[in-house]
Amino acid sequence: MKVLLHEMSWTEAKEYFSKNDIAIIPVGSNEQHGPQNPLGTDHLIAKTIAEETAKRTGAICLQVIPFGVSHHHRQFWGTVYVSPKTFKKYVKEVCLALNYYGVRKIVIVNGHGGNLNALTELARELREKRIFVSVFQWWPVASKLLPNIFKSDERGHAGAEETSMNLALHPHLVSVDKAVDEEIRKHAVETEGITLPLDTADYTGSGVFGKSTTASAEKGRKVFEAVINELVKHVDLLRKAKVEDLITKSKV
Ligand SMILES: [Zn+2]
Repeated sequence: MKVLLHEMSWTEAKEYFSKNDIAIIPVGSNEQHGPQNPLGTDHLIAKTIAEETAKRTGAICLQVIPFGVSHHHRQFWGTVYVSPKTFKKYVKEVCLALNYYGVRKIVIVNGHGGNLNALTELARELREKRIFVSVFQWWPVASKLLPNIFKSDERGHAGAEETSMNLALHPHLVSVDKAVDEEIRKHAVETEGITLPLDTADYTGSGVFGKSTTASAEKGRKVFEAVINELVKHVDLLRKAKVEDLITKSKV
């Protein structure tokens, strides 16, 4: 059975939507990930996780939305980004288009932390319209379920954790010999409790936050399996849940 929407014909889509009210949308970014990883890292990982979950659950998966909120990486060449407002509006309209065919439950597989605020806002807005959107991110799952596989300085942007995922999922796009370890710079005015409007270039010259040379495909495969198991569980639970139990409660 086909699970990728763009590979179906309209009659096949009609059959799916007349029996199912759930869909998966991968989203990511196109931004620098150090000298060793492809710019597409975040959207490529999200796409692979989403498609594998679709295969294992039978829930439909859309094409990945590749451009996200990455303004802070722009000094590194090839980073292509949109504003949080545009991103939220675009993803929301995709969700509303699905809702026209009866979809009430949407799992967004987000590959880029910078997208999270916009996605959280849109999920709240759509819940008011009786559409339930959950947002799944793979790296918190990895640190929770596999706490010892990477140290904290390997879990940063373009670090060993992300590089390992790339090595496991699309090794032909990784230049391991270009991987570097770079300790992030501290800004002169940085103190506890302060949030500064800094860009990635303020912290690092290579684009890597921390250690990336310790990456391996094997570690990446372990993370991938753990992540997929968790997401499959979520999709199965969501599928069984009643929409009435998911949407916003009226006044108490
Ligand atoms: Zn990333």
